[in-house]
Amino acid sequence: MISDSTRIRIGAREAIQAAPGHMPVQQALHWLSAYDSPRPAEGMRLFMTPSAYVRCCAHAGSDLVHEVGGALVGRWRVDAATRQPYQVIEAVLPARHTRHGPAYLTFTQDSLVALNDDLEERFPGRLMLGWYHTHPRMGVFLSGQDLWIHEHFFPEPWQVALVIEPVTRPVDSSCGTRQVASTHTPTPASTSCCATDAAA
Ligand SMILES: [Zn+2]
Repeated sequence: MISDSTRIRIGAREAIQAAPGHMPVQQALHWLSAYDSPRPAEGMRLFMTPSAYVRCCAHAGSDLVHEVGGALVGRWRVDAATRQPYQVIEAVLPARHTRHGPAYLTFTQDSLVALNDDLEERFPGRLMLGWYHTHPRMGVFLSGQDLWIHEHFFPEPWQVALVIEPVTRPVDSSCGTRQVASTHTPTPASTSCCATDAAA
């Protein structure tokens, strides 16, 4: 079980404000998942660097039987011109010490401690923007267990959950995203993009 002290350690951060930046729309390839709304994004927009995308897909495809997952790392910004918030996912951290099976993934206390240690050591100044995990042969959705993990370990309103179906469709067209509104109720992210380069 995850102890209360771990929840506090992971969830209790000082209030983080998004710094102004320039949304890298011109450098991005639009990536519209079959699970996302085709309408223009109104809330948070997500961008992913090519290296983060490749590493995420590689990890997702490394086990087509059991669920795998990890953390999304990068920057949270507000576009200086439009005031629209956006994130640039620059790296992924595969989670270690997980318990997983064909239809579940659980982060252990050691998983969460290791992810935070890796973030501080390898990506100082970057944020844990959220988490990702796979649903082999199950489609893209957030299960009750997923919602519990998101609520308890990624409670910031700007943190996102990325679900990847690595088997039944090509990985690059089956990644669905969910972003959390201020109520912490997951809603479909209306836009997700793969940036051609990091920009902020
Ligand atoms: Zn799941």
